[in-house]
Amino acid sequence: MTMTMTISSTDSLNVAVIGAGTCGLLTARELLRQNHRVTVFEKSDRVGGTWVYDSQIEVDDGLGLDPNRSVVHSSLYSSLRTNLPRPLMGFSDYSLEHRSYGDSRMFPGHEEILKFLEDFANEFGVIEVIRFKSEVEGVELRDGNKLVVEVGGGTAEEEVFDAVVVCNGHHTQPRVANDIPGIQEWSRKQVHSHNYRVPEPYRDQVVVVIGNGPSAFDISREIATVAKEVHLSSRSSNVKASSLDGYENMWQHLKINRVFGDGRVMFQEGQSIEADIILHCTGYKYHFPFLRKTGVVHVDDNRVGPLYKHVFPPQLAPRLAFVGLAYSQGVLFRMFELQAKWIALALSGKILLPSKDEMLIDVHKHYQEMEENGIPKHYTHSLNFQVFV
Ligand code: FAD
Repeated sequence: MTMTMTISSTDSLNVAVIGAGTCGLLTARELLRQNHRVTVFEKSDRVGGTWVYDSQIEVDDGLGLDPNRSVVHSSLYSSLRTNLPRPLMGFSDYSLEHRSYGDSRMFPGHEEILKFLEDFANEFGVIEVIRFKSEVEGVELRDGNKLVVEVGGGTAEEEVFDAVVVCNGHHTQPRVANDIPGIQEWSRKQVHSHNYRVPEPYRDQVVVVIGNGPSAFDISREIATVAKEVHLSSRSSNVKASSLDGYENMWQHLKINRVFGDGRVMFQEGQSIEADIILHCTGYKYHFPFLRKTGVVHVDDNRVGPLYKHVFPPQLAPRLAFVGLAYSQGVLFRMFELQAKWIALALSGKILLPSKDEMLIDVHKHYQEMEENGIPKHYTHSLNFQVFV
């Protein structure tokens, strides 16, 4: 299964973008700037993706593990403000800083980011190429060089494209700490932060929050305002078991050693408590159900591969590309923008990618370096753990 990669800078390609969140909007703008014909497929009825706050939670067991559940896309909680300051939440030529949405706080609320993205989509004409309520259910390679996109939403139809850019978001499918000894016996409540919105359901409860990222930090402190006790647990080697300064009802523990059917939770440092709820703030899984038929990209322990620099699968580059997979504690919006520009320029023949073999060698070198440095596979797309040589 190989395809012709030769693209001349005069070609105007027919490109499908899957998703109208931050990455899809940026990608569509860059493709339009390069005079490509663009269709953005968006399964919901508005732009913004993650930044469209949804007060609904999924009505399975709270963990979001039932594949047949009615999926809620966004994982935002009501009080969320960005973890980056205002100047870092815009794009290179379209800043949030100079726009006024009636809130001048340095760390904007989620409502403001949504308005900013809506304005962006309108200002650059991206809104005109979006097809709402159009969920992509399949992408298939046909005749060696055409990508067939199957769009659902009641009237299943197929459309043929020269290229597809995947921008479907990566904060919807919960990743759960299910390797905790005894977790199968645990009969009390478990929730993933994907299904956390407000602190009220945690009033007077004893809550164990697992995680060490921004969600665990924010949510535990918010819950502590109403809960009886909050016990944070992390497997990171950087944490120490202690009470938390400024809180009378919150403690940091090491990782969980074992949980029991009667609600007991034992931590590695030897402490034991009885809890009502375990709240997993343990991140998300990459999920591309519509890519099964291409057979070129696989997800293995949260490694999406093979992907050159987290963006191009060597076998189909540049005609299949991904935006937004890599993550770090850095400036995500600017990184998404650079990825979008790279793809648009590669599809215009203005930037040449290495050969398929060179890209594959680069990917395997990355995997090998991770292994040699003891970095688990599921951190493949974390730039914080990137090995630079
Ligand atoms: P999304 O915003 O998720 O958009 C994906 C879009 O694709 C959605 O509209 C969805 O409906 C659509 N879609 C999915 N599947 C299909 C399909 N098959 N067919 C058609 N459409 C489809 N980043 C920051 O920079 N700063 C922050 O402070 C910050 N805080 C965050 C807090 C939380 C709780 C979370 C979960 C994330 C946070 N992020 C933050 C990361 C944030 O997700 C990214 O910045 C960015 O919004 C991701 O954009 P995206 O386009 O990749 O995905």
